[in-house]
Amino acid sequence: MRLTRYFLPVLKETPADAQIVSHRYMLRAGMIKQASAGIYSWLPMGFKVLRKIENIVHEEQARAGHMAMLMPTIQSADLWRESGRYDAYGDEMLRIKDRHGRDMLFTPTAEELITDIFRSHVSSYKDLPLTMYQIQWKFRDERRPRFGVMRGREFLMKDGYNFDLTKEDALHAYNRHLVSYLRTYERMGLQAIPMRADSGPIGGDDTHEFLVLAETGESEVFYDSAVTDLKFGDREIDFDDVVQCAGIMEEFTTKYARTDETHDEALFNKVPEERRKTARGIEVGQIFYFGTKYSEALGATVQGPDGKPTAVHMGSHGIGVSRLLGAIIEASHDEKGIIWPEGVTPFHCGIVNLKQGDEDADAACEALYASLTALGLEPLYDDRNERAGGKFATMDLIGLPWRITVGPRGLKNGVVELTSRRTGESEEMPPEQAVARIADIYAAH
Ligand code: ATP
Ligand code: MG
Repeated sequence: MRLTRYFLPVLKETPADAQIVSHRYMLRAGMIKQASAGIYSWLPMGFKVLRKIENIVHEEQARAGHMAMLMPTIQSADLWRESGRYDAYGDEMLRIKDRHGRDMLFTPTAEELITDIFRSHVSSYKDLPLTMYQIQWKFRDERRPRFGVMRGREFLMKDGYNFDLTKEDALHAYNRHLVSYLRTYERMGLQAIPMRADSGPIGGDDTHEFLVLAETGESEVFYDSAVTDLKFGDREIDFDDVVQCAGIMEEFTTKYARTDETHDEALFNKVPEERRKTARGIEVGQIFYFGTKYSEALGATVQGPDGKPTAVHMGSHGIGVSRLLGAIIEASHDEKGIIWPEGVTPFHCGIVNLKQGDEDADAACEALYASLTALGLEPLYDDRNERAGGKFATMDLIGLPWRITVGPRGLKNGVVELTSRRTGESEEMPPEQAVARIADIYAAH
């Protein structure tokens, strides 16, 4: 993409109403525009990152054996009355009447609808286990939408649902989700710590939230600092392997890590003092096992191996897809702007032409652009007629992890400059070598 043709409405001024850094940078970098309180338009660069995050979620869900599907955003109130949540959900649910006066709502989550699909089509234990998920917009009429996409009213969520015959099978599904989420967040360059949590209005027995540590997080968290040393890495996982998944679950959840809702001071005090940490965190996901709560309320039963009807065991699992953009920026930025992890960056690298209009510089930039593109990489070429300082400031703000700087002086010696956004370190090298280096870096992502 050439910057002169791209829609990147960068703001010079810091927006006054944006209180946290991710919100400020998303506005300044022209990624989102507020449409009304807690509701945003996604401008091209913001949308690109959103899509990258979605893709990682889809890939990791597929790896775990879960099926993608899509349910409507507008749902009839009837099912929600059946489960008892139409009244229980309160003011957070956006209620709508259609032209016939029927009660409809904008989905805040989808347990009811998926359970209805299940009960209509599945009647035998032989069709289990079953896990389906969607990535769909949700609406919750939050009391205080704030912090940009972090606490929106409309937001994009991955929500997944598992149906199993027994509690043991459902607990395997729970562990499998935990494992798959760990990998999902790491691919986005995030460390998200599973913490024992409270189940809230969804209800249920077992639940963990995934928290990214950040000063601006809304949750207070308490943990043993040893949990931050745990890395998922690129282990080989067999998601059907009950023992392997349970082992990883144990590895990542045994050390003390809790939100304020479930915090237990006495237990916490057993952690060696120097490892006892209190901090703030951003909730980027949550997994639940809730037994037969919805299947009983909605009559989702199957014929068991003994021929008798049995209510299925369920769980639901969510990832805050749009919130993740904010969380990633909170975890990865400096005073100049965003620093995208390679896994989610909107463009793989920037090309800065120090002297637009100079024949050699223009030709070298075009050649770099063509070589990178031919390798399947997406560069953002700053081809504006602007001074170098302004170009660098834009690149730093939008946070592409790598920048190739091209100028007539370097070209006389046959070199361009490759700069890491994260470390600020620059190295001179021939253009072909810069291309090869960038290709190498992204081969691992
Ligand atoms: P919170 O406690 O932050 O209100 P929640 O526990 O009610 O969230 P879940 O039902 O667990 O939310 O939804 C799954 C995920 O969706 C959350 O972990 C979070 O990342 C994301 N999410 C929830 N509410 C919002 C929101 N208002 N804006 C953006 N993302 C949200
Ligand atoms: Mg939650």
